[in-house]
Amino acid sequence: MLSTILLAFIALRIAQQVIESALAYLNVKYVSNPANQKEAKEVLAISGESIDKSLAYAKDRYSFGQFSAWIQLAYTLLFLALGGLGYVERFALEAIPGDHPLLHGLAVFAILGVLSFVTELPFGYYHTFVIEERHGFNRQTKKGFWLDQVKNVGLAVVLGGILLTVLLSIMNRMGSSWWWIAWLAVFGFSLMTAWLYPTLLAPLFNKFSPLDEGDLKAEIFLLAQKIEFQAEGISIMDASTRSSHGNAYFTGVFGKKRIVLFDTLVKSMSLQEVVAVLAHELGHFKLHHVRWGLIRGFFTTGLMFYALSLCLSLESFYQSFGLAGISNYGALIVFSMWFGLVGFLIQPFSSLISRRHEFQADAFALQNIAEGKTLGDALLKLRETSHSMPISHPWYSAFYHSHPPLLERLKAMNYIGGR
Ligand SMILES: [Zn+2]
Repeated sequence: MLSTILLAFIALRIAQQVIESALAYLNVKYVSNPANQKEAKEVLAISGESIDKSLAYAKDRYSFGQFSAWIQLAYTLLFLALGGLGYVERFALEAIPGDHPLLHGLAVFAILGVLSFVTELPFGYYHTFVIEERHGFNRQTKKGFWLDQVKNVGLAVVLGGILLTVLLSIMNRMGSSWWWIAWLAVFGFSLMTAWLYPTLLAPLFNKFSPLDEGDLKAEIFLLAQKIEFQAEGISIMDASTRSSHGNAYFTGVFGKKRIVLFDTLVKSMSLQEVVAVLAHELGHFKLHHVRWGLIRGFFTTGLMFYALSLCLSLESFYQSFGLAGISNYGALIVFSMWFGLVGFLIQPFSSLISRRHEFQADAFALQNIAEGKTLGDALLKLRETSHSMPISHPWYSAFYHSHPPLLERLKAMNYIGGR
């Protein structure tokens, strides 16, 4: 018989998925409605044919997204209900005899990691080679896909292994002050990964070559100078080996800042449009959005570990999830599932902050580029290459979207289409 605690978790997790599915359904109905598409077509001068193509892509991703979300939820809940965690724990304890809490914890996480990798893999494969392929976005070969998987697993083993070893050791040895030591250690670890990302991690997956001397580089330096952004370099990333979606970003912390342009972006846009997209990205930096993000991350991590320290002794929670009793690895597993429910409730608030930042970065870009219309043109081209719908249901957007729907963004810029 399932315990009340586990039943409550299962019910809440299903409720969460019902809400998510309802929002997705509302959104797909909304974007399919010709009346809602009308304004986007008129204001942004997008052709009916192009909207139809985007709609087909949106519908495909909707059906597949729903299917995979429900299947994966069913796996997870069935695993919990059948006492899967208990089997994994007993297996780890028997495989490594003796009193080795750190090794037992690492073994449990390794087994769970393998299980979740295996269950997610078919969905990732289908998404790349069926959905993206069907709509003409996929540029990846089967060999490239499997190579990516190998690299991902390697990275998860190394980075996850280090992080869990540090975290579990602190929990095992530091007594009641563990939570703030873990807080600082985990935050330090994430800063370190962000620092290493551009030079060590990103090159594992993509080739970065310095931008050739020429007009584009000169224009970008002019922009960087104007807004006093010190970049260590500008690189072109070979994003086209995976997909035809275009983008630009800047990366790195502590004076290792780099501007990265996707080759797909540079190919599809005029020089001025690339500069406009970059002006938006640099806006995030100049307006301290990145710094605020770090500060928010710092306090959320602290709050989470403090909450975990309060929950640690609730033995019935471990037993309800099939575990033998209180353990530090068990606490990380069981309570992170509960915290996930809280995270779902917080989602609209972080989306709200993020969307506000997008509007601010757009306004910043407009102040710093020669012609206001260029950013709008560039965003329209980005939409065209990624085939995202320029509109979305207000509730769906409020809940999930880190970026406002294109129509709203361009209206805020007073953009009138017609290229
Ligand atoms: Zn942005």
